Amino acid sequence: MHLVPVLPLMPHETLVSWTARIARYHANMSSHYFLSLIQLSRQDVVDGTEYGVTRLADLTGVPEARIEKCCIRREGDRNLSHRGECFSSLFMCRTQVSYCPQCLLEDRDTEGASLGMRVGRLSWMFRTVRACHRHGCEVLRRPRENFSEQFQDMEIVAPEDWALKQQVPAAGAMMHSELQEYVERRLAGASGPMWLDEQPIDQAAKACEMLGACMEYGAHCDLDRLVPADWHCAGAVGFEATSQGVKGIRAALDQIQRKSAGKYARGGGPQAIFGRLYQWLQFNKGGQDRGPIRHVLREHILDAFPIGPGTRLFGECVTQRRRHSVSSLSRESGLHPKTLSRALVRSGLIQEQEEQDVDPWSTADARQAGILVQKIKHSIPVKQVPKYLNCNRRQAELLVREGILPQLVTSERFHGGVLTNVAIEDIEAFLSKFRRHGREVSAPDQQMIDVITASELVRVPVVDIVRMVLDGQLSNIELLDLENGFRSVLVDPSEVRSAVDRADEQSGLSAREVANELEIFSSGPSQLRKNLDRDGQPFLKAVEIRNSKGKAKHRYAPAEVERFKKRYVKLGDLANERGISAKAMSKRLRENGVSTIVPRNLLNAAFYRRADL
Ligand SMILES: [Zn+2]
Repeated sequence: MHLVPVLPLMPHETLVSWTARIARYHANMSSHYFLSLIQLSRQDVVDGTEYGVTRLADLTGVPEARIEKCCIRREGDRNLSHRGECFSSLFMCRTQVSYCPQCLLEDRDTEGASLGMRVGRLSWMFRTVRACHRHGCEVLRRPRENFSEQFQDMEIVAPEDWALKQQVPAAGAMMHSELQEYVERRLAGASGPMWLDEQPIDQAAKACEMLGACMEYGAHCDLDRLVPADWHCAGAVGFEATSQGVKGIRAALDQIQRKSAGKYARGGGPQAIFGRLYQWLQFNKGGQDRGPIRHVLREHILDAFPIGPGTRLFGECVTQRRRHSVSSLSRESGLHPKTLSRALVRSGLIQEQEEQDVDPWSTADARQAGILVQKIKHSIPVKQVPKYLNCNRRQAELLVREGILPQLVTSERFHGGVLTNVAIEDIEAFLSKFRRHGREVSAPDQQMIDVITASELVRVPVVDIVRMVLDGQLSNIELLDLENGFRSVLVDPSEVRSAVDRADEQSGLSAREVANELEIFSSGPSQLRKNLDRDGQPFLKAVEIRNSKGKAKHRYAPAEVERFKKRYVKLGDLANERGISAKAMSKRLRENGVSTIVPRNLLNAAFYRRADL
């Protein structure tokens, strides 16, 4: 037999509240007496035990499945569950009495759904829910006075109506936050954002609040002094970051890092930078699982701070270092911090600073910094390169100056010191590249000579021949044993000569070719190049080609020669055009005051400017 008429459970009503309303509605007695009468313990209702649910279902005819939706059940000693979500008991306000005074006053409407009886809302029980959706005000909370108040019958635990009315102004305006909305939606079965959904609901909420507190109130804020409104705001700020997943959280951590860096002495490490967030994860005495935020901050710290292997970070041992500071690298390598600072800045591993005043706490990628240290340690001064490479001092210097053998660090401002050394690794790499296009022979062909000898023979700088070899411009290269070093590469001097000529041809006509074309002295083109016309430009423009020794050659583009021929005309050609003798033409020009562009004896021909005619 059921109690009739059925008093339905209101949406989001607690089991305690419903039971209390049944007592008043059907028996006109307080919940405590009613439960004694039906021999159901208060604890069975508070904990929504199976027994309690069955008894209430039998009594009211409301299906068990419906009743279970409003149950908050015990899961072991420390956890609770509600609608399939399991969470720490701390996520709920069981030791506090929570209510919205305006909601309770509205419940008094006898025409309303609650038939004039107060309703305890489930959402008030969750710590993260701090604002009343309906009234845009704070949910009021006070510590419970005794154990029996855990049975939150609003008629008993909340003040009388007249007192509630006085409390309305005290419940300050507070809009619901996105975090609170997330918690309520998730409990109602909705999903997303994913990063939050993948962890227990209480961990998700706590991660938002801790992150948000450090973002909003500073990494070293006093958490004990934050009031509910502060936590509400922190949760909203944190949710904005966490709802974007790891990327959003990393951006938030960057923001905290930037703010902290200015305030706290550098070198204090991640605790100085991330303050409460770091301490919450690092000094987790209870060993509670803090959820995935632990992994995100751990990764962030390893990516940004010089944390050495063996360090215990958030309960886990660091196996591999990712960042080195100038100090940690100096300790590990034995190299002077100043040397390292310069090397790290110059090689681009540390940015932003002037190398003279590099912050010793600046960090660099540990792997790349390690490679750099090895290079520095295995390097030799330029003056030792000739012996290593089997060349002379001048050649070694040129190879370095031309960047074929790179110095550890190249800088115009920086002279001397270990960083001007050349890494053995780079010398070896050069040799192997230098020998790449050659074939090993036991007895070289007769004409084959080493690059240094070829340079003297063909009169081309050594470095230019080295470039030809490296660039694969020569096809005939023979190799002696590697122990001959620089002299192990043999080239064919005639091929070197052709390669030089080919390069010259590609850049234009030689002076001799131009002289033939214009029928002037072979020194004529250089006269036309050096002398300037009225517009300040040479009569004939040339392309200057310098070899690695700085010696210049001049070549003339065919189009430039054509331009010259259009602009200027030779006496003989002019006379032919006009059908008179050269002598008569010359006389006429002289009478008209037209002179040659360059004295006739310099070119072996008289040229006139067509514009003058
Ligand atoms: Zn309300």
